[in-house]
Amino acid sequence: MIGKCLCEAVQFTINTVPNLYQCHCSQCRRQSGTFSNAATLVHRDDFLWLSGEDKLTKFKLKDGFTSHFCSICGSPVPNPLRDTDKVWIPAGALPGEIDSKVVVHIYTGSKAAWENEITGGKQYDEMPDFETLYKLLHEIK
Ligand SMILES: [Zn+2]
Ligand SMILES: [Zn+2]
Repeated sequence: MIGKCLCEAVQFTINTVPNLYQCHCSQCRRQSGTFSNAATLVHRDDFLWLSGEDKLTKFKLKDGFTSHFCSICGSPVPNPLRDTDKVWIPAGALPGEIDSKVVVHIYTGSKAAWENEITGGKQYDEMPDFETLYKLLHEIK
């Protein structure tokens, strides 16, 4: 499955498209410009850059929160997840027709007052342990 940024300079491919999660924390709100991030996680062996790796701007907060984006159009793009062997994939970079749904909501306790009620999928006030999250994303659809 090919994903790309808005200007299409940055393109990547993933072998499988797992389920998706949404994070409602304040950092993801700022980073995404909306009420949550929608994303998934794949093993790095299932991920490949096709173009635009030299167009990435890499930003990291002191606490480790990372945002990589296309230097031309500003779209969020994949980045390696902290000290794991996983890669974070922004769902919006993938085609809208993918056969995946949001199955987990995290940091629902931090959601913006202006967000409507959260429905569908499992909900966690904060972050479940990483193995739990990864398992939910990779359960059979
Ligand atoms: Zn771009
Ligand atoms: Zn978040």
